[in-house]
Amino acid sequence: MLSKKIVDGCEFVVFDLEWNQPIPGKTYDFDCAALTGEIIEIGACRYVYENGDLICRGTFSADVVPAIYTRLHYHVRKVTCKKNSDLKKGQPFAEAYKGFREFCGDDAILVGWGNSDPAMLKMNLKFFGMEPKLGMQFLDLQPIFSFFAGQKGKQRSVEAAVDFYNIEKKDIFHSATADAQYTGAVFEEIFRHNKPSEVISAISSSSIDPDLKNEFSLVGSEAKDAEGALKMIEGFTSVCPLCSRPLTAKISKFRIRKSQYALYSCIEHGELFSRSRIKKNKAGMYFASSVLRFATQTDYYLVASKKEEFDKYGAAGAPAVIQEDNKEESGNL
Ligand SMILES: [Zn+2]
Repeated sequence: MLSKKIVDGCEFVVFDLEWNQPIPGKTYDFDCAALTGEIIEIGACRYVYENGDLICRGTFSADVVPAIYTRLHYHVRKVTCKKNSDLKKGQPFAEAYKGFREFCGDDAILVGWGNSDPAMLKMNLKFFGMEPKLGMQFLDLQPIFSFFAGQKGKQRSVEAAVDFYNIEKKDIFHSATADAQYTGAVFEEIFRHNKPSEVISAISSSSIDPDLKNEFSLVGSEAKDAEGALKMIEGFTSVCPLCSRPLTAKISKFRIRKSQYALYSCIEHGELFSRSRIKKNKAGMYFASSVLRFATQTDYYLVASKKEEFDKYGAAGAPAVIQEDNKEESGNL
C-alpha cells in the first residue's frame, strides 16, 4: 500500500536490470545462493506525473563490470546478445549504483516489470557489503498492465505489452536500457488509455515497500481431516505479521476445493491476501500450507474472482469445463 499520495509533480523511476548467473557445475568459494545473479547492466527512465500524464525527464544507462561471474552464462548470452568481452566494459557495481541513486533522487517511486528486480538489486547490495535498504516504494507494472488490458491475472512480457499498445520498436529487447524505455512507454500508454484516477488508484493499492518482507508462509500441523488441517493454521491469519495487530477480514475466508482464500486488513500496513492449500502426506494425514502476503492488483483480482466462483458454485467450485478457461491464469499465480 502506497503511503504517498500521487499528485502533480510525483516522480517515477522505471528501471530494469540485467544480471549474469553462476556457471552450472563450476565450484565457487562461497554459497551461490547468496548471489544468484550478478548485475551487469542498469537502465532507467525518470518520469514526472502531471495532469493525468507521464512526462519523461531523462534516461540512465550503466554497464557494470562483474567481479564474480565474469563469464557469461549461456542463457544470459542468448537472451541479452552480449559477448564475454562486453563484460569488461563499464563501471564497477558500486559506482554504477551510486549514479543510479543520484538519478533516482530522493522521492521517486520505483517501477519495474515483474517483481524480481528490486530483490536482485538488494541481493547484490548485500553481497558487496553495501546498504541493502532501497528506501523507495516499488510498483510492479506487469499486473497493472494485465488489469487495464483486460487480461486480468495473466503474466505478459514487456514485449507483449509493447505490441498491445502498438509502441514503435526501436531497439532490441533484453537490454536493461531498452527494456526500461519500453516499460516506461507502456506506463505512459496505460495513463493515456484509461482514467488517470483509476490508474492512480490501482498504483496506490499495488505498490509495496521492497525493504519489508512482503510474503509469509506457514506449513500447519497434521490433522485427520481437511477441516482440522485448516484449523491448525487459523492463528497465522489472525494478526499482522509485521506489527501483530489483529487483522480484520475484508473478504472473509471461504473454501473452493482444496484452497481457502481471504483478504485481510491491518490498519497500519494495509491489505493482506491469504491462501491456504490443503494437502495430504504419505501417512494419509492432512495439513495446510498457507501464504499471507501484502496484496497486489493480481491478488485482488484472484480473490475477487474466486469469491465470485464460490458465490455461484459453492465449495465444489465451477464445473470442470468452465475451470478450463481459468487454467492459464491460475497456473501463473
Ligand atoms: Zn500491521
